[in-house]
Amino acid sequence: MIPKSHPRYESLLLRDKMVKASNEGYLADSALIAHGRGEAFDYLIGEHTTYPAKRAMYVGVAALLLSNNPVISVNGNATALACDEIIYLANAINAKIEINLFYRTDERVKIITQLYKDHGYEDILGTLDDDIEHLSDIKNPRATASKKGIYTADTILIPLEDGDRAEILKKSGKKIITIDLNPLSRTSIMSDISIMDNIVRAVPLMTKIAEDLKTQDKKVLKEMVNEFNNEENLNESLQQIRLKE
Ligand code: ATP
Repeated sequence: MIPKSHPRYESLLLRDKMVKASNEGYLADSALIAHGRGEAFDYLIGEHTTYPAKRAMYVGVAALLLSNNPVISVNGNATALACDEIIYLANAINAKIEINLFYRTDERVKIITQLYKDHGYEDILGTLDDDIEHLSDIKNPRATASKKGIYTADTILIPLEDGDRAEILKKSGKKIITIDLNPLSRTSIMSDISIMDNIVRAVPLMTKIAEDLKTQDKKVLKEMVNEFNNEENLNESLQQIRLKE
């Protein structure tokens, strides 16, 4: 039991969740390493939501609300850290949720499918019995997508995504929004909207933002998306990293 007074309390809780998920068998071997990379960046930004991240969240939610078929892509790490929060966000923006694993195995897909169902979300896509297609006809396991979900989506939220997969999605003409603590990752650089924040802070805040933006005129949402410059925002995000005050 970690005492609440511990200076790294929140961070240790997240580690516990990751270890539990790993023991439950739905994480790839490299998942804990990916978590460690994210943790290091979170440390460097002071483990709080920065201004550029918040700006990107507003624009990201606006883009999701404007799209016809928005999808939230989930992997093992995202599920381990924010399963319920992802379901709330999907409901708030009327998006689908699709399992999308870099190291896809039937066993992991089965466990993650069951987890979403146990958490009250029945319509999970990318399952073993889903209709799976290959994006842009790329016959590579990285390019698989559910016909009802990512394959036909116009906007995809890809938290904690790998660069190869992000590149395939980007090349297939989708609007890509990422949540990634590393502003230098290929995924952050390639995305249309990059939110440099921890998924555990970003997703709940995006759900609140969605409640707020839902009532806005579509014209206003379009302006927000059009005025956003991801490269500038990423540079500003990078400046939030300070080695010493
Ligand atoms: P890329 O291939 O995009 O250059 P990478 O090789 O680091 O990046 P992965 O390890 O596949 O990609 O993806 C993990 C990414 O998710 C990393 O960039 C890491 O910083 C980020 N990450 C890990 N944990 C979290 C978290 N809790 N919240 C947000 N981002 C996270």
